Amino acid sequence: RAKELGRNHYSFFNADMSAHNQQELIMEHALRRALDHGGLSVHYQPKVDVARQQMIGLEALARWHDPKLGKISPVVFIPLAEKLGLIDALGQAVLDQVCQDLQRWSQKGDVVPVAVNVSARQMGDRDFLSRLQQTIKLYQVNPGLIELELTESCLVPTKAERTLTLLQRLRESGFRLSIDDFGTGYSSLAYLRRLPLDTLKIDAGFVRELPDNQDDVQIVTAVIGLAHGLGLSVVAEGVETALQSELLSTLGCTVCQGFWLARPAPASQVVQWLADGVGPGSWLLPAH
Ligand code: C2E
Ligand code: MG
Ligand code: MG
Ligand code: MG
Repeated sequence: RAKELGRNHYSFFNADMSAHNQQELIMEHALRRALDHGGLSVHYQPKVDVARQQMIGLEALARWHDPKLGKISPVVFIPLAEKLGLIDALGQAVLDQVCQDLQRWSQKGDVVPVAVNVSARQMGDRDFLSRLQQTIKLYQVNPGLIELELTESCLVPTKAERTLTLLQRLRESGFRLSIDDFGTGYSSLAYLRRLPLDTLKIDAGFVRELPDNQDDVQIVTAVIGLAHGLGLSVVAEGVETALQSELLSTLGCTVCQGFWLARPAPASQVVQWLADGVGPGSWLLPAH
């Protein structure tokens, strides 16, 4: 009987695993097809200086709507692309779209910096910098309008010297560099201090329970102090309420990103934001 149970259990486990594998195979196939046929798109979310009431930039976020599987979150397909060795192609597709949009906006006289997310895997690709340069040249985009959002996982301590050299080259080429989800990884302050960065982005996890959670108030205060002490600018992610934005401003972080200001939206919405302003109320945009 025990044997029988065991066997049943075993076969159940097997069926479950193969269902899981099958699901992943379907998704893998669909992702490859999407990359081959331009099936990914890009949404943009404003970064707003709430003190000056200006949209100071955008973050590009990859979107995937499969005809059969429906909408799939980047939290799912980015790790899948990394695992399948498709992240370079995905990153390139996003960058191409961003540069094309930037070129179009600049032809209408709108100059707006755009941040793109970069995976650790992409940084390991020896052609990363040269492909970036080729792409911005193709679309005649000023590198100063492209910010690369790196996570702390991009800053592998074992490859510290190599990473430092790459970041210096990127910076010398005119790109801006920020650390995304700051405070969730393991990068040491000694290492961080050596990197040619522009911005720290405070992870949404430290913002979520503001203003009530006193630990988070202390952490956010410390990160803002650290950023300013190192001569970096600071952006808060995941700002969902007026109270959060007000506290962050009071603490010295005036640039916020989050649903309270604007949700990520397609390029057509960016044109509206540039024309009509962004955020609750009738906020203004930089004169251009
Ligand atoms: P991230 O770079 O930290 O981006 C912020 C995420 O928070 C986005 O999720 C955004 O939609 C969401 N968000 C913004 N404001 C709020 C808010 O007020 N409340 C809440 N709850 N969420 C908010 P999304 O678009 O699902 O992207 C998730 C992650 O996937 C990104 O985190 C980034 O790490 C990764 N990702 C997205 N696009 C790309 C890409 O093109 N390349 C790479 N390598 N990674 C990407
Ligand atoms: Mg990001
Ligand atoms: Mg982030
Ligand atoms: Mg995040």
